[in-house]
Amino acid sequence: MKASKAHIEEIGRIITKHRSSPQVTLIKDLNPVIRGWASFYSKSDAATVGELSKQDNLTYLKLRRWAKHRCGNINDGHIKYWISIGDDNWVFATREGTANHFRLLKHRQVECSSTDYVKVKGDKSPYDGDTVYWSKRLGTHPQMPNRKAKLLKRQKGKCPWCGLYFQEWDVIEEDHIIPRALGGKDEYKNLQLLHRHCHDRKTAFDLKEIRKKNHSKFLEKLSQFWEKN
Ligand SMILES: [Zn+2]
Repeated sequence: MKASKAHIEEIGRIITKHRSSPQVTLIKDLNPVIRGWASFYSKSDAATVGELSKQDNLTYLKLRRWAKHRCGNINDGHIKYWISIGDDNWVFATREGTANHFRLLKHRQVECSSTDYVKVKGDKSPYDGDTVYWSKRLGTHPQMPNRKAKLLKRQKGKCPWCGLYFQEWDVIEEDHIIPRALGGKDEYKNLQLLHRHCHDRKTAFDLKEIRKKNHSKFLEKLSQFWEKN
């Protein structure tokens, strides 16, 4: 079995090769590589869910660059190349039809769907339980202020957007649940922590809502104008 690092490098090479290919071609090339590595890895003694999630996150970061390169900015990239399927708000898939879209496998899903003996263990966050432990560890860290530590506790170590536990290598960002532009306040109860990639995705949705709102404000003003005149 290839080491994790060699595996993600291979994914990177495939994504680079397909800079200008259609999304479906990229997915078809990536899926066998992901399936192969994840199913071997799941049976190894060292297998953990955390490592599979890590591979998914690293893959995402490479795809994010790919999408940004193609669309000029990442918000359009997210809207164009990622969709929601069932509970998963975060699927890299083509949009053609609901039954026919091609979706990129996740390393975690390969493990879940395997009928073989699976040794994967430890679907747990370092942030979910022992508050004292991690607030001590992170609260004093300049990059993890106390507010973040409190939010982590309130969220029980989970990201509300994707439902997965935060892991130590994740980039975690603060988000306004109701965006400021839609009247959300900058206060504790309107804040949540999200993975950076989930935050990107939520921002794309928020922007759509904000545009809708601005549009209806505009119509309101217009009708006021007509009533007056
Ligand atoms: Zn998330």
